Amino acid sequence: MNATPQPSLAEREATSGDAAPASGPRPRPVLLDVNGIEVIYNHVILVLKGVSLRVHEGAVVALLGANGAGKTTTLRAVSNLLEGQRGLVTKGTIALRGERIERLSTSDMVERGVVQVMEGRHCFAHLTIEENLLTGAYSRRDGKAAVAATLDKVYGYFPRLKERSASQAAYTSGGEQQMCAIGRALMANPKMVLLDEPSMGLAPQVVEEVFEIVRDLNQKEGVTFLLAEQNTAMALRYADYGYILESGRIVLDGPAAALRENEDVREFYLGTGGGSADGERKSYRAVKSYKRRKRWLA
Ligand code: ATP
Repeated sequence: MNATPQPSLAEREATSGDAAPASGPRPRPVLLDVNGIEVIYNHVILVLKGVSLRVHEGAVVALLGANGAGKTTTLRAVSNLLEGQRGLVTKGTIALRGERIERLSTSDMVERGVVQVMEGRHCFAHLTIEENLLTGAYSRRDGKAAVAATLDKVYGYFPRLKERSASQAAYTSGGEQQMCAIGRALMANPKMVLLDEPSMGLAPQVVEEVFEIVRDLNQKEGVTFLLAEQNTAMALRYADYGYILESGRIVLDGPAAALRENEDVREFYLGTGGGSADGERKSYRAVKSYKRRKRWLA
């Protein structure tokens, strides 16, 4: 990571195409534009210190960072779920297709096609899988037949959910509950899904299965994803573009392929860089020099 201030998003976009999917011939329109937001909890705890990011239509963008970096807070700011946590966006702007959205309610956001899948899956334990899925369609006004068609589609993407449709969610596996949480979000027919830590607590094979479905939904249904992840390796395999968040600030961003090759990302997030043939994390000395390199961020 360079010890020079980040160029502005506009400058970066002019040179890098920003978060546009790598395969697209032309950069797609910006769907979500988060510009310099600060978030404060309980009037005093400053958690986000000027976060900017962009998500283009049809992209999969990863928001990466360690525990407590501010990933969930960023997603909550976008989907307007901060209020219930006594949090507030105190600076900066958030726009969806150019429309300012900071003052909208969560249901306004759902109407605009933005749905959040919260960390920890949050299924209704006493409801069956199918009942859980149907709760995701509560805001729809296009009739039962349309909702049934979406349910069929969700079962098509998640055959495991179809098998378990009549099971009470409490008795399904962690992977099935994560799939149920994503499936429920899809029942709202979203344009964009904010996905918080889909890998949390899941076996590697199941994480891969979930990410494969995310890729399918992106490619076949055109759903845009902003996903927060601590599992950097997995997220960068499936994302087009990534942002790395540390202590409430974006310290690095770039196309996923470039981040995967970036020496610092390999060293500090993938645990594979700096000539460490055995893939172990680097010494504290290296950490100290890394900290020196990015001291300007403090
Ligand atoms: P994790 O992977 O653990 O969820 P994260 O990157 O998503 O980490 P956040 O959950 O956004 O991080 O938390 C960022 C910081 O904000 C943490 O220091 C956390 O303790 C603090 N924080 C989060 N929610 C609240 C809250 N409701 N009130 C006060 N502080 C909070």
